[in-house]
Formats: sequence, C-alpha cells, structure tokens
Amino acid sequence: MNRQIAIVELDADDQVDDGHGQALASAKTIYAPRGQAGEYSPLATNPYRGCGHGCAYCYVPSVLRMDRAEFDKGATLRPGYLDNLRREAKRYQAAGLHGQVMLSFTTDPYHPGDTSATRETLQVLAEHDLGFCTLTKGGTRSLRDIDLFRRDRDAFASTLTSLDDAFSLKWERGAALPGDRLAALKRFHSKGIFTWVSLEPTLDVESSLAIVQEAHGFVDLWKIGRANYLPMTGRTDWESYTHRMIEQCERLGAAHYIKKDLQKYLPEGYTNLMRVPQHH
Ligand code: SF4
Repeated sequence: MNRQIAIVELDADDQVDDGHGQALASAKTIYAPRGQAGEYSPLATNPYRGCGHGCAYCYVPSVLRMDRAEFDKGATLRPGYLDNLRREAKRYQAAGLHGQVMLSFTTDPYHPGDTSATRETLQVLAEHDLGFCTLTKGGTRSLRDIDLFRRDRDAFASTLTSLDDAFSLKWERGAALPGDRLAALKRFHSKGIFTWVSLEPTLDVESSLAIVQEAHGFVDLWKIGRANYLPMTGRTDWESYTHRMIEQCERLGAAHYIKKDLQKYLPEGYTNLMRVPQHH
C-alpha cells in the first residue's frame, strides 16, 4: 500500500453512512464528486467527452467550458482513459477502498455512439474490487452489460422527466424514450440488481409524480430534485411539490431521498437518508 496516498472524506454531510465515502486525493479518473453531484454517488468516473443525447437542460457543456454543438455531436473516449482507470483502480484497491463508482456525471455511459469502453470500465472496476453504478438515459442499450452487475454491490439508475414520448423528445431529443428506460429498470430489478431513479430536473410536477406511481414496483430508491435556471423554475411551487412527493412515496412505500435544493421544505425531524443499503 502506498502510505503517501492521502484520503479525502466525501462531501461533509453526516448522512453519508455507507462507510465507503472516501477517495484518493490525487486520483482524477476515479474521483469524489462535490456539492450536488455528491448526493448521487460517493465516487464517479467519466469515460467520454461529449454526449449524443442532446438534453436541452444539460449543464455539462458550460461546466466543461465546451461548445454545446460540439458536446452534442457525440461522445468520444477521453485520451488515455482506460490506462488511467486501471492505474487508479489498482491504487484504490491497494488502499483498501471499495466504494461504488458512478458512470457518469459529464457524459452518459450508454450514449448513442460506441460504448464499448463502458463495458471495459465496469470490468476494470469489478476486477479491482470496486462497486459501480450506471446512471443513464440510454434505456435498454444498457442490457448488453447486465451480466457484469453484481447483486448488493452494483446499481443501475436512470433519469426520468416524463412518461410522455413527445415531452421527452422535446427535452431529451437523442435519449431513449421513457418506456425504454422503464423497460431497462424493470429488467435490472428482476435480475436482483438495485435500481434507482433520478427525478432531476423536475420539469413538470405532475409528470414526476406520475413516474413514481408507474414505476415504484421496480425502483428501489427515488432521488428527488427540482429544476434550476429553467423556465419552470420560478413558476413551480417547490414546497407543495416536496410535500406531495413525500406523501405519495410514503403511501406507496417508495424509498426516497429529497435532494438539498428541496430540503428546506422537509417536515421537521424528517428522516432523509442520502445513502441507503442496497437491497430489494
Ligand atoms: S444524458 Fe446527461 S450528459 Fe448527456 S446530454 Fe443529457 S444531461 Fe447531458
């Protein structure tokens, strides 16, 4: 073990309780996301630059200071990515760190182009005793890799904003349609893999409530957020949305986490765990 490797604690939030919220300080390819991204996963990696899903609300081009048209053209593997991943995964293993690594924040692991590096990434992580989770709008494209997912270790997640195809095509023109994303979640869940859904951004309150109603039987955890810097941001009653979502999740027995942006509306003393044990 390299004793010089410093350990960085995750986002300072006392709700992180999975025991794996640590990252190597000098690691860049497998890193600990900060701020809002940290609410999704203790560790993350981004194999590609760009994404062909073309979501109208995507904030990534501005974060990467990348031209939006270039970003939307499609994803390409980052130079040296797999070599860097192998090197860092080895160091994590040597340091005894086995957290779950999420793909991805700044691209989609099942974008419409060549995603063979996604499979290789999952294999490398597993070989080095790291967990993984894929967060995708690629729907059933992900089923190619379902054999790699381990029960109680890995997770499959999708972002959903609506059940309506036309709505989805307006906001996420290159992504899999909602029914295809639901089909993927259902399939992973039926194989015993932990599933979760990101309801962020919430573009339409009624749509998000309808998604939970439709899919609660095969989604193990809901991560609920709002919309920021979008037309509906100022005209939505987020307090009412938070309360309605909590009421619905409790009625359906749906495990959920209310993201920081909405936590000011939580009832006093409300238990709101950011990380939950992964089991059905
Ligand atoms: S799938 Fe994610 S990374 Fe890709 S365009 Fe949509 S929001 Fe951006």
